[in-house]
Amino acid sequence: MTTTALGIPLFGVRGGRGGSAADQRDGLPHSSRPDRPGLIDSHGRQAIDLRVSLTDKCNLRCTYCMPAEGLDWLPGQELLTDAELLRLIGIAVGRLGVTEIRFTGGEPLLRKGILGLVQSVGRLPQRPEMSLTTNGIGFARRAAAFAAAGLDRVNISMDTLQRDTFKTLTRRDRHADVVAALEGAVAAGLAPVKINTVLLRGINDHEAADLLDFSIARGYHLRFIEQMPLDAGHEWNRTAMVTADEIQAALSARFTLTPHPLARAGAPAELFTVDGGPATVGIIASVTRPFCGDCDRTRLTADGQIRNCLFARGETDLRGMLRGGGTDDEIADVWRMAMWRKLPGHGINDPSFLQPDRPMSAIGG
Ligand code: SAM
Ligand code: SF4
Repeated sequence: MTTTALGIPLFGVRGGRGGSAADQRDGLPHSSRPDRPGLIDSHGRQAIDLRVSLTDKCNLRCTYCMPAEGLDWLPGQELLTDAELLRLIGIAVGRLGVTEIRFTGGEPLLRKGILGLVQSVGRLPQRPEMSLTTNGIGFARRAAAFAAAGLDRVNISMDTLQRDTFKTLTRRDRHADVVAALEGAVAAGLAPVKINTVLLRGINDHEAADLLDFSIARGYHLRFIEQMPLDAGHEWNRTAMVTADEIQAALSARFTLTPHPLARAGAPAELFTVDGGPATVGIIASVTRPFCGDCDRTRLTADGQIRNCLFARGETDLRGMLRGGGTDDEIADVWRMAMWRKLPGHGINDPSFLQPDRPMSAIGG
């Protein structure tokens, strides 16, 4: 097997968090990869969008994501430092063709150095587009600082317009903070502000059209996300999930939806024009209409593991290389091979599908 100067296998998958037989079977030899700098895979895709998880911790407990008691958080020494994160982002942008960085988590605003990170990434020679996915708690008073630091866009998650439903869904009474975050983002010039919404049957699914009304009236871009099997409790089940078809039907009872000219354009959301436009709504049908063939993402967990897919069952360790004296060239090469091995699809709909060991909050949603 080919190894780097550090003895790290160039096509080995770290099995510690669930490297599976499937990953090993897909361990394509290094020699089969064309000599190109970008994060290409063997199915014709190229990753240009890097999702960076800044922490696995969160101040909400959304029922479809985390248990009420929280999780065993990653030990501090396993988390990448700001300097390590910046080095990896620099490699991704400078050598691997990444043009978009999205900070996420867990709740990324809980990371102390986040503003400094945004500033530093904004100063990279090939400055990437920078966005943030957040639950919005505490964002209202920091939005202007983020905009000044160079943040381009923000996605704020809000599943309901009702304070009580918010409490049921997130187990915290913070709905007003999220509404304020949306307003603060617009005031800071971070428009268009996107809202991410997950609908749960019998809890908030009756709010689909109200959420769209609310968003249109304020100029927010609403995107519904089908609930995915990435909850820590492994309780997801297909029949409970509100499907894209159901969401479309619920919206169509109040609005006329027509496929937008940029219906997908590389993004996961299928876009619809609402009542002739200009308003739009997105539906991310990861489960019922998978878009893996267009996927352009690579993921870095807060503890320095590359995942080539949200649903990958193996990870590639970059933290060990960073701390073991790996050079930028070596790290870039290992990252390229991690992506080259990417499977053609997430396999949620295969009978043999196994949910990844790490939940969404620890991977970075
Ligand atoms: N804490 C931040 C937030 O909630 O926006 C960022 C991380 S969160 C994991 C990112 C997005 O993933 C949120 O919009 C959240 O609603 C969504 N999400 C979490 N668990 C999910 C699941 N099981 N299925 C679909 N979306 C999920
Ligand atoms: Fe926290 Fe986001 Fe998960 Fe909700 S979805 S528990 S806000 S990480």
